[in-house]
Amino acid sequence: MAKNGKPTCPQHFDVLIVGAGISGIGAAYHLSKQCPGKSFVVLDMQGSFGGTWWTHRYPGIRSDSDLHTFGYRFKPWRGPPIATAAEILAYMGEVIEENDLARHIRYRHKILSARWASEVQCWTIEAVRNDTGETLTFTANFLWMCQGYYRHFQGYMPAWPGTETFKGTLVHSETWPEDLDFAGKKVVVIGSGATAATIIPAIAERCGQVTMLQRSPTFFITGRNAIELAETLRQLQVDEGWIHEIVRRKILFDQATFTRRCVEEPEVVSKELIGVIRNLLGADYDVEAHFTPSYRPWRQRIAFVPDADLFKCIASGKASVVTDEIERFNATGILLKSAKQLDADIIVAATGFNISVLGDIDFVIDGKRLQFADTVTYRGMMFTGIPNLAWVFGYFRASWTLRADLVADFVCRLLSHMDATGAKTVTVALRPEDQDMALLPWIDLENFNPGYITRSVHLLPKRGEKPEWQHNQDYWSEKDQFPAIDLRDRAFIYG
Ligand SMILES: Cc1cc2nc3c(=O)[nH]c(=O)nc-3n(C[C@H](O)[C@H](O)[C@H](O)COP(=O)(O)OP(=O)(O)OC[C@H]3O[C@@H](n4cnc5c(N)ncnc54)[C@H](O)[C@@H]3O)c2cc1C
Repeated sequence: MAKNGKPTCPQHFDVLIVGAGISGIGAAYHLSKQCPGKSFVVLDMQGSFGGTWWTHRYPGIRSDSDLHTFGYRFKPWRGPPIATAAEILAYMGEVIEENDLARHIRYRHKILSARWASEVQCWTIEAVRNDTGETLTFTANFLWMCQGYYRHFQGYMPAWPGTETFKGTLVHSETWPEDLDFAGKKVVVIGSGATAATIIPAIAERCGQVTMLQRSPTFFITGRNAIELAETLRQLQVDEGWIHEIVRRKILFDQATFTRRCVEEPEVVSKELIGVIRNLLGADYDVEAHFTPSYRPWRQRIAFVPDADLFKCIASGKASVVTDEIERFNATGILLKSAKQLDADIIVAATGFNISVLGDIDFVIDGKRLQFADTVTYRGMMFTGIPNLAWVFGYFRASWTLRADLVADFVCRLLSHMDATGAKTVTVALRPEDQDMALLPWIDLENFNPGYITRSVHLLPKRGEKPEWQHNQDYWSEKDQFPAIDLRDRAFIYG
């Protein structure tokens, strides 16, 4: 219904892409190139494209993986490997402009519900415009879910006791107030991941004192924010397209080696990573207490700290690290479990995400509310019992976009296959040989356990023991497996 109560005429598209982040813009690009006859629309609730890179506004906001692999495979990245949000947005803007994608994107459209009706073999999507309040209806044959995995504008804030008694300012990194004045202030940043490691060097110069408060240490990798091979190839005036491809291959080769070493010789890798930090912080620094994690490397994402900026701040005394637990907040700051008091004017919670399952959209399939957690995933992109839908969920240990490109190729191949065979619907289903397969949580928490997944794994689909029925988090195997997926396999039920 429109605002004035009159029903709006549904607008129909072959494909509806949810989200205009790096995945959604990639999906739009691939669809326009690989299935040029398909009509499509991209809906996003934000005022512009970028997703993560549009909504995050904290000081210093930057990528933690390199842009040769976080960038698309089809669009060369020419800048330093670790990029600011502004640089990533500019890159995405070029993709949109160069490929005439803007006319397909509609901003400020928040999707509220998606209803599948088998009798008409399509989705009905209801969206509300958050500028005018108007409700719009779309129909689409296929839903391409590029909504990411976390709730924008609502970060995860643990329920610490006494926060209401704190007289200073408490902010979450995901909702950084534009006018937050930290000049000369005492700031405590709670967290030990990439976000804390980014904010601290970005504000250290201007605030009076900044402390990173972490419960336990994390692994970091540091290095120059440059790729020597790219620089050499550029000096040799090699074509940028070639540089992009060669540097991607080199990065992926190095990452595969590193990942293998983390599994085969975790102690050696730990020592190497911690050794680098010891060198940066000096012999007197208590690296044991603050930068020696208890888990093996790669169990959590390892943030890259470009040009060692965080460690330079600590070494120079501009920033300090406290490894302790919060007992409670009080009027002047935080009382720690060790009975130490950390006074603060501003406390920043860099404490992670709240998972958003399928974009918090109300899904109904043939009149029945979807229980996403009851489905089983086909390679982390389709789900049993959900027709004509694919989801882009990238990698934890490699750049997200590597998988966005792979999933896009698969979806375009699937859509072309359906056209060629006259199929209107596709749903994945366990095959007779899969019936006895054990069903497990979405991800192996022994292998990878970031807080936001641990907190929400019960909301996510199940995975099976066989490779087809899981998101294996392994780009190096999926890059060969995805193009070889047999679309006539009995896991795909066409209608
Ligand atoms: C600060 C930060 C840094 C990161 N750095 C890296 C990195 O360096 N490398 C890496 O691989 N990963 C990184 N990540 C993970 C990152 O989120 C993903 O890599 C990637 O940006 C996700 O892109 P996406 O397009 O899938 O989702 P998002 O960026 O989350 O975009 C999804 C879009 O969908 C829209 N949307 C969602 N639900 C709805 C709805 N119901 N209606 C309408 N629109 C909707 C949202 O508004 C949003 O614009 C980082 C994450 C954060 C928060």
